[in-house]
Amino acid sequence: MKVKLKRRHIKSLEEEVQRVHPIEACGMLFGKMNPTEALVEKVVTAPNVLRSEKRFEIHPETVVKMILESEKEGQEFVGLFHSHSAPAYPSSIDIKFMKLWGDAIWLILATFDGKFAAFQMMDGKVKKAVLEIE
Ligand SMILES: [Zn+2]
Repeated sequence: MKVKLKRRHIKSLEEEVQRVHPIEACGMLFGKMNPTEALVEKVVTAPNVLRSEKRFEIHPETVVKMILESEKEGQEFVGLFHSHSAPAYPSSIDIKFMKLWGDAIWLILATFDGKFAAFQMMDGKVKKAVLEIE
C-alpha cells in the first residue's frame, strides 16, 4: 500500500500535535483509496475525548459528522491519524481497533523523533505502508 500526502497536510498535523501536547492528537484522513494506493486530499483533526497521553478516541458523533461532510465533498474515508510519545508503530490497543476499522490507513506521528509512519491491517496482520509526501 502506498499512501500519498501533501506537505501542507503534514504541516497541519504537526501543528495540531504541538498544540495538544502531551495529549495524543487525533484526526481523520479523506481522499481516494484503492487496494494499492491511498491518496489523501483532506485531513481533519478532532478532539481526543480521552484526553490521554497514551490513547485516543474521537467521539462517534464527530466521526459520523466528518464522514458525511466529506462524502458531500466527494471524499472517501481513507484512515485515521494520531500521535504517539512512543515510536510510530501501532500499540496493542491500536491493533485491536485496527481490526474493527477494516482496511483503514493508520497514520502515526511519533513526537519524540518527529517521524511519520502509516500502517494497514491486512489478513489480520499489521503491514507498514509506503509514505509519499509531495
Ligand atoms: Zn496509538
